[in-house]
Order: sequence, then C-alpha cells, then structure tokens
Amino acid sequence: MAKYNIAVMEGDGIGPEIVKETMKVLRLAEGLFEGLVIDCHYFPVGLSSFNQYGSTLPDETIAGLKQCDAGILGPLTTHAYNTNNPDMVNASGRLRKQFDLYANVRPARTFPGVSSRFENVDLVIIRENTEGMYADRNLYYNTGEFMTDSDTVLSLRVVTRKGSERLAKVGLDLASARHKKLSIVHKKNVLRQGCGLFYDSCHQVGADYPNVYIDDYHVDAFAMHLVQKPEDFDVIVTTNMFGDILSDQAAGLIGGLGLAPGLNVGDSFLLAQATHGSAPDISGKNLANPISEILSAKMMLEWLSIRNNDQYALDAASLIENGVEETLSRGFKTKDLGGNLSTEEFGDHLIEIIKEVKTNKENAIS
Ligand code: NAD
Repeated sequence: MAKYNIAVMEGDGIGPEIVKETMKVLRLAEGLFEGLVIDCHYFPVGLSSFNQYGSTLPDETIAGLKQCDAGILGPLTTHAYNTNNPDMVNASGRLRKQFDLYANVRPARTFPGVSSRFENVDLVIIRENTEGMYADRNLYYNTGEFMTDSDTVLSLRVVTRKGSERLAKVGLDLASARHKKLSIVHKKNVLRQGCGLFYDSCHQVGADYPNVYIDDYHVDAFAMHLVQKPEDFDVIVTTNMFGDILSDQAAGLIGGLGLAPGLNVGDSFLLAQATHGSAPDISGKNLANPISEILSAKMMLEWLSIRNNDQYALDAASLIENGVEETLSRGFKTKDLGGNLSTEEFGDHLIEIIKEVKTNKENAIS
C-alpha cells in the first residue's frame, strides 16, 4: 500500500476550474486502486489568498507543502501582481526556487481525435527552472533586474554548471527510458559563456550515457525545425527562458495549451502544474480544458511511482492517460479543441470512460 500526502493549490483564473476536475480524477484513481491512498491538503495561494490572508503565498502554505510528498498547483495571474509588494510574490517561481524544483518537464504529444498539423509528435522539453533570465528566482536575495537610470535596465542571466548538469541528467535518464535521443538547445554562438557552459555540462554528463544519441541546435534554428518536423525530436534540454517559449510553441503544434501538462521536478518534491497561464479571457466561464492539469497530476503519479517503486501509482497514471486518449478519440472535447463540452462536462465524461477502460483492461486479463 502506498500513501501520498498531496498539497493542492488552486491558483488564479481558470486554476480552480481545472484543479477541481483534476481532483475528481485523482479521487477516482484512488477509489479504483485499493493500494493507492492519496491524502489531499488544500493550501491558499494566489489572488484569493492575498485577499483573504494578505499574501499570495502565505507562510502556512510553505509549511504545509514541507509536510507533503508532492503538490498540484493551478496557474497564477502573475502579470497583475504588484511585485513591489513583498506579499505579492509569484508563487510559481518562489516554490520552484524554495523547493529546488530544478527541472520543468513539459511533454507535447499528438492525441487521437484532436486535429493538428502533425500526426506523430511525442517529445518532451525539459526546461531549467531555477536560474536563467528569470529575475524573480535567479538571485538569492532581490531580483536579477537592475534599473541603472530611468532609461536603462540590465537583466541578469544565471547559468551554473551544477544547474546544467543536473538538468542534463534528468533529460538523459528520460531519453534512456524513451527513444534514446537528446537534443541540447542553446545559443552558444552568441552567449558563448552561459550557453557554452550549458552545452559543455550537458555533453559531460552525456558521456555517461553511451546509449543516448545526442545532438544540438541553436535555439533560433531549433524553433524552425520544431515547426517543420516535430516528429524528429525525443527529449530536449534547454535553459529557462528558451524552454518556456519553446514548450508553448510545441503545445501549439499538437492542439494547444489545453493539452500541455507539466511537472516541476526536484530531488525531494514534485509540483504538478500545467504549462499555460491563468487564461483570464476564459476564466470563470466553465470553458477551460482541464486535460493539461489532469495530465500534470498523472505525471506526478508516474514520478512518485518511480521514486517509490510503486506499481499502484504507475497503473493509476497509465489508466488516467488511457482514459484521456479514449475520451478524446470518442469526440468528447472542450471548445479549444473544437468541441462543445464545458470544463465540468468533459471531466464527467472522462470519469465514466476511465471506469470503463479499467473494466475493459480487467476483462482482457481474466
Ligand atoms: P495563457 O497561457 O494564460 O493563455 C494563452 C491562451 O491559451 C489564451 O487564449 C487562453 O485562453 C488559452 N488557454 C490556456 N490554457 C487553456 C486551457 N486549459 N484551456 C483552454 N484554453 C487555454 O497565457 P497569457 O494570456 O499570456 O497569461 C495569462 C496570465 O497567466 C498572466 O497573468 C501570466 O502572467 C500568467 N502565467 C502564469 C503561468 C503560471 O502560473 N505558471 C504561466 C504563464 C503565464
């Protein structure tokens, strides 16, 4: 029997809507696998937390997360935060830094029943998550942006050997378990020191993985290859900002951000969070596609299963993925994918189909 304490933070905008459907699916998975126990603990975060508790990331939330094995976080409307206010921190960035969630794993794959320009995309972008050019997390104290006079801003970019090597290891381990190909994406022809260090570190770690074929691309050329032949890529490792941009681009190739999950990975904590933002244009309308967050939670179960050698969590993750595939292939879709279902209606169909898929699997075995 495996028991996990999972922190749940709904976030802003569409966050509460997609996290609600995700929790429906997790509760179902727990009910379907006797050996899987998921204890959920809700913690405040984001704008509703600021209005109620005076902080977008209260100390109680951080203390609560420290008692948990992993977390689920909804997106945050960070552009609206007043970053001069110390009580309005971007919880996404702060938690990645505080819990040392150094690898942001963002898969993009085509799904049956979803029309897209490509048929066989199945790639994973692994983005460095704690340094790079993200000013709110690349310094120990204060931010990495400096206004030297009213017309000049300097933005600091941090690349370390440790950060690059551990990211490369996540990528190489994943590539070893998949199609054994790793692409390093950089801009070392211009950013000779920073991207040069990233590139060298990846190759040094790669020397321990003779089974993985390694190639590399300048980020601008990679952006073109990604839209021309995304089927050619397996696992991609890159620095923070390049990975942030390229993972949204990859999502666009396979049907949009509603299908784009993500997992923030550290050595002792995992945080499931979809690739996209809080989608203010559709928030509160029951229109959001919850698949991105549901598959993020599925990834969380997968990684927990690997770390705890737990077959129940692995089976639950695989069932959730099969359920999503089956639901989409039967034409049940939210508006972003050309369907007409609300967020809740999609979640309800998915629940019924997951149950059916489980029964069919059991019948096939017996
Ligand atoms: P966005 O990702 O929120 O939205 C981009 C487009 O994708 C919108 O048209 C939106 O409706 C659509 N979309 C996104 N998720 C969807 C889903 N699940 N289902 C259907 N459609 C979906 O990007 P944005 O508009 O640039 O940013 C909105 C807010 O989110 C900003 O405040 C930004 O700072 C923040 N943001 C937060 C995170 C995070 O919390 N990790 C990440 C990116 C952006």
